[in-house]
Amino acid sequence: MISDRVLNMEESATLAMAAKARSLKEQGKDVISLSLGEPDFKTPLHICEGAKKAIDEGKYFAYPPVAGYNDLREAIAKKLREENNIKEAEAKHIAVSNGAKQSIANIMFSLINPGDEVIIFSPYWVSYSALVELPGGVPVFVKGTLETEFKVTAQQVEEAITPKTKAILYSSPCNPTGAVFLEEELRAIADVVKKHENLLVLADEIYEHINYTGSHFSIASIEGMFDKTVTINGFAKGFAMTGWRVGYICAPEWVVKACMKIQGQITSANSSISQRAALTALREDLAPTWEMAKAYKNRRDIVSKLLSDIPGVKANQPQGAFYFFPDVSYFFGKSDGDITIANASDLCLYILDKSHVSLVEGGAFGEPNCIRISYAASEEELREALKRMKEVLGRLS
Ligand code: PMP
Repeated sequence: MISDRVLNMEESATLAMAAKARSLKEQGKDVISLSLGEPDFKTPLHICEGAKKAIDEGKYFAYPPVAGYNDLREAIAKKLREENNIKEAEAKHIAVSNGAKQSIANIMFSLINPGDEVIIFSPYWVSYSALVELPGGVPVFVKGTLETEFKVTAQQVEEAITPKTKAILYSSPCNPTGAVFLEEELRAIADVVKKHENLLVLADEIYEHINYTGSHFSIASIEGMFDKTVTINGFAKGFAMTGWRVGYICAPEWVVKACMKIQGQITSANSSISQRAALTALREDLAPTWEMAKAYKNRRDIVSKLLSDIPGVKANQPQGAFYFFPDVSYFFGKSDGDITIANASDLCLYILDKSHVSLVEGGAFGEPNCIRISYAASEEELREALKRMKEVLGRLS
């Protein structure tokens, strides 16, 4: 009965691991969950107040416009002009969706015919490949390695382009590696993209605020790139609003129109109250966002130090987002006398069973030698989790 499309689709590895952790928790185990990409902070109070006010005003009960309320689209465009230096951005270039995840799904259904290729920088966020494949697209992975801080070069991109390439897709700051593309690196990639008339860049900038390099750079701000870029963003990470489900794109009008045609048939618009909350987030002070970013940086430093104390774990220093993506291949083939570890998936299950710390294996992100550790957790939890990991990994020989 089930469609081939669903049968052929991978289940979200991060959600699967979170479910295992939850079931251990239900059995009363002291589980520390470092598997989800979810801020552990609460949505700042003033944003919640904005939502409450919208409910009390009694005006926001009906279907909103498919692309989002106009004042929200205007505020997003203004933010992109002022903070991201995307000078051309206007309300008509903005489409609001139920999370950046739906934004990406809309884009894929709008652009992809069966057999079209999308170049994905690997390691990549789990859902990218599934969302390219849903409308029949072919993901083409271009790989960064630990040695290159998991960053792909413009030359690698150039070599991967074929007549079937529709778009290139990456996140910066990157989930799962924490890599951040610098301005000169994105300029080099833009130079390659500009040589190809019908090629779009899909730049997922949802972690823009959690960036330790000092500044975030948007590829759409490069001269000549506005018409060739879809900037993907949302409120989930920087404003701790995962549950409110507000994402958006900034794109040439033809892309916005196509995406809204799809969205109009599938979900209509994003929730009215969530949109009012998002507008409050943009209009008010960003101080809580920067406070959270500071806390993530402290945690990055703590985890970095503790990880470097675990023999066999090789990690880069993430420059943004809230993940470490260490290479753990040293442990493959090793045993605690009872269980033998064949791969990263075995290692994650071993760590979960023996120390009740939940992580995600890297294969789901395109790198089977790695595991992903989310450090969106309290310092106390992180210290305890790393202590437990060091202890159980020390039993493997
Ligand atoms: N892009 C990346 C790189 C992400 O990590 C996530 C969430 N984990 C998303 C998009 C989806 O964001 P949203 O919650 O707004 O759908």
